[in-house]
Amino acid sequence: MLPALFVTRFAPSPTGRLHRGHALSALTAWQAARRAGGRFLLRIEDIDAQRCRPAFETAMLEDLAWLGLDWETPVRRQSEHLDDYALALDRLRRRGVLYRCFRTRREILEDIGRAPHGAAPVLPSRPSPEEEALGLAEGRPFAWRLSVQDAGLALGGFEGLAFLETGSGPDGEWGLQTFRPSLGGDVILARKDLGVSYHLAVVVDDAAQGVTHVIRGQDLFAATHTQRLLQAVLNLPTPVYGHHPLLLRADGKRFAKRDSAETLDDIRRRGVTAAALRAELGF
Ligand code: GLU
Repeated sequence: MLPALFVTRFAPSPTGRLHRGHALSALTAWQAARRAGGRFLLRIEDIDAQRCRPAFETAMLEDLAWLGLDWETPVRRQSEHLDDYALALDRLRRRGVLYRCFRTRREILEDIGRAPHGAAPVLPSRPSPEEEALGLAEGRPFAWRLSVQDAGLALGGFEGLAFLETGSGPDGEWGLQTFRPSLGGDVILARKDLGVSYHLAVVVDDAAQGVTHVIRGQDLFAATHTQRLLQAVLNLPTPVYGHHPLLLRADGKRFAKRDSAETLDDIRRRGVTAAALRAELGF
């Protein structure tokens, strides 16, 4: 058998029920894999034990099967690979591209709010050695942030850092995309209560699972820039990316879990068939 040249995935977080937007992403990726004669993987992004529930995972699998999707087993569950992420975090730390950030979310938001209108807000940056020593001596909690600037230094510049976009970014971006440092920023890669963040786990997993094509919503286009940078620093392959436009509600806003948008389960209970929903979504 020839090795699969097209491997894609759908990677939901079991923090709630799936809604139409998830169905669109899952169907887009699944159909692309089928058309390419490739592989479709499912990944459960459950690193946040506070917010994720096994019952939601079970329900998600049921919803996806109802939609008519099938996927390879075993399904990769991020909570079972925390050691891999810790190793990657360690590699980043040793490359000197992480710093401890002692500022709380509230402090950062306050700084942003205080910045004079039109002026660039003061965003987190590497603390001075004195500030860091003081924070550690006081036992203050901290997060590990990626320093985009130091990553650039470690890589000898951002030139050549690019990815291929086969879908479209929010501003119609298509084709070869050069890395934009401003899109990602100094994201948090680990917190005291959470040893790994979304970006790091995704990059490690996409490589571990041999994902060649990442197909997902345009809301993650900026995240792709962060993830591209992490791939470069960690020396991991870069998949092809295909971002798809987000579904809009009748009022023009996007669907989101917090909006209590109608879930796939609600839709099914209303008596809508999977075929009808697929047709509504263009499949
Ligand atoms: N787990 C992410 C989400 O539910 C998706 C991650 C990805 O596709 O890279 O939004």
